[in-house]
Amino acid sequence: MKEGILSRILTAEQTELRARVRAFAREVVGPRRLEAYENPPFLMEMSRLMGGEGFFRTMVPKALGGAEMGTMGGVLVVEELARECPAIAIAAMNQMLFPLNMVMNPVVMERWFEDAVAGRIFAAAAFTDPVGIANYTEHPEIAERDGDDYVLNGARYYVTQGTFADMLGVGGIFENNMHMFWIDTSQSGVKVTPMPKMGVGAPWGCIELTDVRVPAELVDDLSSLVKDRELANISGAGTASTHFITAMSLGIADGVWEKTEAFLRQRTVRERPLASMQALQHKLVRMKQNIEAGRSMLYDAAQLVDAGQGDSIMDHLVKPFVSEMAADVARECATLHGGRGYLHSAGIEVYVRDAMGCLIAECTSEMHYSTVASIMGLPGAEPGAF
Ligand SMILES: Cc1cc2nc3c(=O)[nH]c(=O)nc-3n(C[C@H](O)[C@H](O)[C@H](O)COP(=O)(O)OP(=O)(O)OC[C@H]3O[C@@H](n4cnc5c(N)ncnc54)[C@H](O)[C@@H]3O)c2cc1C
Repeated sequence: MKEGILSRILTAEQTELRARVRAFAREVVGPRRLEAYENPPFLMEMSRLMGGEGFFRTMVPKALGGAEMGTMGGVLVVEELARECPAIAIAAMNQMLFPLNMVMNPVVMERWFEDAVAGRIFAAAAFTDPVGIANYTEHPEIAERDGDDYVLNGARYYVTQGTFADMLGVGGIFENNMHMFWIDTSQSGVKVTPMPKMGVGAPWGCIELTDVRVPAELVDDLSSLVKDRELANISGAGTASTHFITAMSLGIADGVWEKTEAFLRQRTVRERPLASMQALQHKLVRMKQNIEAGRSMLYDAAQLVDAGQGDSIMDHLVKPFVSEMAADVARECATLHGGRGYLHSAGIEVYVRDAMGCLIAECTSEMHYSTVASIMGLPGAEPGAF
């Protein structure tokens, strides 16, 4: 398809960033993208390269050596990587977004920030308790106080890049409020085992914590997010990471669509390209329509956040809309590839598996809809997602 035929209003700096990340995704990641599913060293190698390219500094404030390109900059990075390889996109999300949380704590900044944004160490966010990520009524207290230290006991599931992370931000309830405990994975009492999963890269880490000591200087109060076991911030500011998993969904949809369009042009039946059949043309065009509707919604939501006018209902609706659209597009595109679409080595079925991951990551549609219903003040509604 002609490049840029469906353009958006982007600044020169955003256009340049998109071109740089797209070139990296196509030239460096693309030829090896299937390695991401079995091979943590490949993910680590790509993160080191992305760190060297400066991608993880996209959202970092200029005062800290970053490009300060806001939510929209981060969205473009994740979207472009996900076209080729969603597993690399989620690795970039971890390395690009999570260090931003370090900024609130000078000791954490000094110890891990620069290495994380340079891709020299691997950072992971460990929030999901076995009872459910947002089920704060039932979350066990993760910490007890012992003098100046906190002592952690508990488990965290589904931790992206958890099997090879050097450090973790563990989110958990202490005295009924959310806290962040910054730990080193080599610390005494930290056990990490792989949790094999359906897609989006190598296995998750299952993190078990037994009497892990954390000095008070490495603990942050996050009661702005969860207070008295209730979600305290559902205004949109607490949902920032949903824009990036949405960008991943958008990249998946457009990436698999492009590969499908190329395949239908090249594959023939009765010596005519499949792409010449009106039934299949309409499928391609309908999918493109839905992808572009999703892009408009995501870019609007991101640009509103950057303009300081984030809209909480929009922020909770964009993720369900785009992730469900991407799962539909990936399934349709795999079918349009025939048997090849089901063949692992063709690299199409992985988009279906990865699109499924985006339906769940950063909370499901239902969890977001519960939040929207509560913002709307519908009777009896309670928030289900940040
Ligand atoms: C690809 C991927 C990467 C991930 N990476 C990480 C990571 O790095 N770190 C981490 O900590 N976690 C990670 N997760 C976990 C993820 O954040 C959670 O799995 C997700 O948010 C859903 O929470 P849950 O598993 O606790 O669902 P549950 O709470 O067990 O939900 C079960 C079902 O109940 C429904 N439900 C639950 N509550 C409500 C509600 N209030 N209203 C309506 N319906 C509801 C849900 O829709 C769902 O269908 C990852 C998940 C995926 C898929």
